[in-house]
Amino acid sequence: MASIFTRIVEGEIPSYKIAENKDFYAFLDINPLAKGHTLVIPKKEVDYIFDMEDPLYKELFLFAKKVGKAIETVIPCKRMGLIVFGLDVPHAHIHLIPINKSSDMSFDSPKLSLKNEEFLEIAAKINQAFKESS
Ligand code: 5GP
Repeated sequence: MASIFTRIVEGEIPSYKIAENKDFYAFLDINPLAKGHTLVIPKKEVDYIFDMEDPLYKELFLFAKKVGKAIETVIPCKRMGLIVFGLDVPHAHIHLIPINKSSDMSFDSPKLSLKNEEFLEIAAKINQAFKESS
């Protein structure tokens, strides 16, 4: 069965899209630790990130860098946190999280509860910043 992220890539499940190219897709995490918390995934479904072929693996991180820089222009922060973390969804993903202190990366912290309009606004702004940087 297709992963929930494959179903998002295929448009079967809606997402707040941030950026896309032929191999990768970036979208807002629905349970964000911070505004702008984004997931970057390969379109080709692979569970464990270390099972990705080296060229695609490298490209995934370069794509995440571009997405992270676009997020930074919209969500002021000290750094962009980048972490490969999680056991829930069996589809490789990088979390990009705007941080101001190390505890902002803690997945034990309560998640933000944002309204649909807020997600839409954040996604549109980051998407615009990404396009301008491309
Ligand atoms: P993990 O495998 O990293 O523990 O969990 C996957 C991440 O994907 C979580 O941060 C979770 O909030 C997010 N997530 C799970 N399902 C969905 C979804 O349907 N849409 C979006 N945008 N994010 C999701």
